[in-house]
Amino acid sequence: ALGLLLAASVTACGQEAKGGSRYHPDSAKGSTIGIAMPTKSSERWIADGENMAKQFQKAGYRTDLQYGDDQVENQVSQIENMITKGDRLLVIAAIDGRALTDVLARAHDQGIRVISYDRLILGTPYVDYYASFDNERVGRLQGQYILDRLGLKKPEKGSGHTYNIELFAGSSDDNNTKYFWNGAMKVLKPYFDSGQLVVRSRQTRMNQAFTLRWDGGTAQKRMDDLLTKNYGTQDVDAVLSPYDGISIGVLSALKSAGYGTKDHPLPVVTGQDAELASVKSIIRGEQTQTIFKDTRKLAAQAVQMGNAVLNHKKPEVNNTTDYDNGKRIVPSYLLDPVSIDKSNTKLLVDQGYYTKKQLS
Ligand code: BGC
Repeated sequence: ALGLLLAASVTACGQEAKGGSRYHPDSAKGSTIGIAMPTKSSERWIADGENMAKQFQKAGYRTDLQYGDDQVENQVSQIENMITKGDRLLVIAAIDGRALTDVLARAHDQGIRVISYDRLILGTPYVDYYASFDNERVGRLQGQYILDRLGLKKPEKGSGHTYNIELFAGSSDDNNTKYFWNGAMKVLKPYFDSGQLVVRSRQTRMNQAFTLRWDGGTAQKRMDDLLTKNYGTQDVDAVLSPYDGISIGVLSALKSAGYGTKDHPLPVVTGQDAELASVKSIIRGEQTQTIFKDTRKLAAQAVQMGNAVLNHKKPEVNNTTDYDNGKRIVPSYLLDPVSIDKSNTKLLVDQGYYTKKQLS
C-alpha cells in the first residue's frame, strides 16, 4: 500500500511540474485547449469554433481548433494529436457520438478533461460536462410552429380540414437527433391521431426520416422522391425539417416540383441554426421558420466549464438528470433556443448576431 501511495504522489508531482502548482487558481493559464468541431460545411460550426477560440484566448489559454470534415476517422486522429501534443482540455462536438470511446480513454489516462459540446458523446465515462441547448425544446418549437401556421389549436377527430405533412430527422449518429424528433412528435402526435395531420408517405418513424450527416443533398433527393410518389393530385402543407441545410434541400425539391408560385405556394418549412442563407430565405418568404441558437453563448458556457475544471472548481450547470450517455449522467448546462420567422428576424440584428447589411 505504501508503494502505491508513493507511486501516486510521484505522478501528482509529475503533473505539477508540467502544469504549475495545483493549488494556484491560475495554474492552467497558458495551457492549450483542443477544440474539435465536426465540419466547416455549416456556418454554425465555424462560428462555434471561432467564438470558442476567441473566448478561451481571452481567458488566457492557447487554442488548437480542428475541423473533422464530417469524417469520423479525421476527428479521431485530430483528437489523438491533441492528446499527443499535451492539450489539457478537449472540447468536442462529435461527428459520431459513439465513436470516441477509445480515444477518450487515452485522454483520461493522460489526465485530460473533456467537455462535450452541443452533441452528447456517448458510451464513455470520460466526459466531464456537457454544454448545449435544450434540444427537446428545439423540436417542440418546430412542431408548435407548424401547428400555429396551419391554425391547428386543438386535436379534434372529424374536424373537417386535414393537412399533409412530411417529416425529416437529423443524422442517425448524432445524439441530438432523437431529442429534436421526440420534441416535435410530442407536439404533433395528437394531430396525427386525430387525423388533422396526414403523412401521405407513411414515413412516420424516425428511422425512416434520418438524414445522414445532416446532408442537404440527401434531403433534397428524399423530398423529390416523397413528392413524386405521394403528391400526384395533392399538395404538401408542411415539412418538419430539423436543420437549415436540410430545409434548403427540401425547398429545392419543392421548387423543382412547381411549388413557390402565387397559385402554388410553398408549404410551411421549419429549420434550425438561423444560418445566413436560411434567414435570407425566410425574409424572401421561402423557408418559414428557423431556430436561433446563439453560438456565442454556447461558446461562453464551454469556456466557463473549461476554466472551472482546469482550475479545480465546479462549473455552473443547470441540468443533472436528463443527459445520460450510457455510462454516466453528464452534468449539463442547457441554453434556451429561440424560434425565428419573418416577424422577428430583426432580433438577430438587435443581438448583434448579423448586421443589418448581411440580412438585406
Ligand atoms: C446541432 C444543430 C445542427 C445539426 C447539424 C446538431 O447536433 O445541435 O444545431 O443543426 O447538428 O449541424
